[in-house]
Amino acid sequence: MLASVIVNSSKQWIGQPLVYEVPASLIGEIRLGTWVRVPIGNRETDGVVVGFPQESTVQNVKVIGEVLDPELLPSPVVELLLWMSEYYLCLPGETLPLFLPPILKRRQCFWSWLGGKGREGLDPALFINPLTFEVAAYLSRRGRVTQRSLKSRWPGKELDLALQELEARGFVVREWSWGSKASKKQASSPGLEEENLRDIEQQVINLTFEQRLALKYLEIGLKQGKGNFLLHGITGSGKTEVYLRAVAAALNLGKGVIVLVPEHSLIPQMAERLKEAFGHLVVILHGDLPTGERTGVWEKLRSGEAKIVVGTRSALFAPLPELGLIVIDEEHSPTYKHEANPRYDAREVALKRGQLQGAVVVLGSATPSTEAYFLASRGQLKLLVLKQRVAGGQLPKVEIIDMREEYLQGRSGYLSVRLQEEIRTTLKRGEQVLLFLNRRGYAPHVTCRCCGYVPTCTNCAVGLTYHVDGKLRCHYCGLEKGWRGSCPRCGGSLALLGAGTQRVEAEIRTIFPEARVLRADSDSLKSPRRWREIYNLFLARQANVLIGTQTIAKGMDFPGVSLVGVINADVSLFLPDFRARERTFQLLTQVAGRAGRRSREGKVLIQTFNPQEPAIVLAARQDYESFYHLEIASRRTLRYPPFVKLARLGLMGLYEGEVISAAFSLARILKEVGTSLEVLGPAPAAIPKVRGEYRWQLTLKAPGWQELKEALEAGLGRYCCPPGIKLIKEIGPVNLW
Ligand code: ADP
Ligand code: ZN
Repeated sequence: MLASVIVNSSKQWIGQPLVYEVPASLIGEIRLGTWVRVPIGNRETDGVVVGFPQESTVQNVKVIGEVLDPELLPSPVVELLLWMSEYYLCLPGETLPLFLPPILKRRQCFWSWLGGKGREGLDPALFINPLTFEVAAYLSRRGRVTQRSLKSRWPGKELDLALQELEARGFVVREWSWGSKASKKQASSPGLEEENLRDIEQQVINLTFEQRLALKYLEIGLKQGKGNFLLHGITGSGKTEVYLRAVAAALNLGKGVIVLVPEHSLIPQMAERLKEAFGHLVVILHGDLPTGERTGVWEKLRSGEAKIVVGTRSALFAPLPELGLIVIDEEHSPTYKHEANPRYDAREVALKRGQLQGAVVVLGSATPSTEAYFLASRGQLKLLVLKQRVAGGQLPKVEIIDMREEYLQGRSGYLSVRLQEEIRTTLKRGEQVLLFLNRRGYAPHVTCRCCGYVPTCTNCAVGLTYHVDGKLRCHYCGLEKGWRGSCPRCGGSLALLGAGTQRVEAEIRTIFPEARVLRADSDSLKSPRRWREIYNLFLARQANVLIGTQTIAKGMDFPGVSLVGVINADVSLFLPDFRARERTFQLLTQVAGRAGRRSREGKVLIQTFNPQEPAIVLAARQDYESFYHLEIASRRTLRYPPFVKLARLGLMGLYEGEVISAAFSLARILKEVGTSLEVLGPAPAAIPKVRGEYRWQLTLKAPGWQELKEALEAGLGRYCCPPGIKLIKEIGPVNLW
């Protein structure tokens, strides 16, 4: 029998699996996901079994040495790993690390005695093999012994036979465990679960009709072990409440749950609500956890000690052996796309994992991605709708403010007269204000008034942003430059144009000196703890104005807020991206949902220079469906997803000329190979130079993934990437590059 194994060589997993022979003694023990010791060169190293090929192309196949853990990864998870590698065009060895804890710790193998107590009940005549009797006697006295100590007592192959005999006849049982303690699976969880489930039922929230209906569908799906859903509900419509009940239903069936949120900052909220209901069964997993902690969490999930994991997209790879439910909250968020190899999309991978493990997948959003809503319109996702706000909350009144008017009236500030008025009355009433602007720093554009000079980053092809601490910074690579106020080229004076969050903060402090202001952007939030602080301060009403970037402040629930201001709705509208309008619509709708979440009526003011733009007008009306119809029609006409499958090939290198010529020759080859493939470009990337590297790209369109993959394989097979050029292959790109 042969096995293909991803092996580790000098702390790196080798991309392509290698083929080994499984020795007869290990045939019963080796499965998909088994952790083994294997020879490589004249050394030994670790490997993970990912397949059982019929034959090998190499001569002299080496033999697997030892089993370190028969089930490091559950086998459906290994299938998922292989699927991802194929789907996203990367190597299994690149995908494997996503599924592993930072530190691979060996589980100990224990043998526990199940037969009668003491030596007396044992008759040597019961056993075929004399050693079996001795081992049985020893185990009956000790109760539970590690395999290692048995081996040191009885070295040699006979021990294995003796243990096999005892196991087959039900005298002993083998367990794998990370600690020396008995496995906690049986010990702690069932009682705890019951207690918690009781708790949640005692809470006095009566679900609305819509919530009950949604839950009913999810419960049916959970029982059947299949079903993909899109839960479309405006903010505050009680989606999270539905998730919680579905989690309880999954636990009741003995299944585990993965809950994904789009941003790190949203983990605590979700985790708190889950912990309230399910206590110790809930764990948190994300990339910034310290190594040891991440390993511990991984082990708890693997062993079944914890059953619910909350985290950002990487938590999707948690090693739950019995999975019942995957929830992806704020499904439309671009952060679900991974920006390094393997360039996966958590939504696609979740649907695949659900299928492989018999789990229900719920995508939830107030503003579903056009792709997801399209799938729902085709019946590939079952659409569940929550139309009403729960707890009596009403939709806020939204006003669009035409900033061209302000300009014509000769005002130069970033806060319109209307917005200032509303801020004043809101603060007077003792209520809170949220202001959004998707730009950090003080002034995003710096220009010389005399010669037009713009300070740019020396590593990246972008202008530098002025910050209040008197530094110019690159927002791509972090480069810092001092500020002199005069132009280095002509000595003229430099103008600070446009507004970032710092400038809005300064303006608020000038106009409303009595306001207590907080700012939440990645400059003010160097750590998740700082974010918690700001969040708690604002929640406790220690401040009454919070200025933030949309990405950070999304999903926040502040009952005291009755006014939301969008400083500049146009920031995301004109990005060179076919999703720019959709993004703008989503941001504005989400932001508007922050106002008046409780009984108080909320107000939202949107400042824009494009007051007729549909993405803005429809967001103001909270009219998702009309926006979707507009958007899907334009995607159909312009041939964009979901009507085609996209891929992006990115080329990077230190010398611009080399990058360009590589891009052109790749484009030529691709244009030759496929008739169903449409090749756009080559063109410079959206940010044409980052950290000293020039970037060009090709965009490919094909009717579906299969055609795309075939054309890419044919094209890339004939293409020889020149030295010094990096080629990035991305299936289904989501973000600008
Ligand atoms: P969403 O996730 O859609 O934004 P949540 O589930 O967080 O909405 O619900 C918003 C608030 O309303 C929460 O405080 C929640 O406890 C409460 N809530 C949810 N469902 C109900 C209900 N049926 N009746 C009363 N309150 C509810
Ligand atoms: Zn830079």
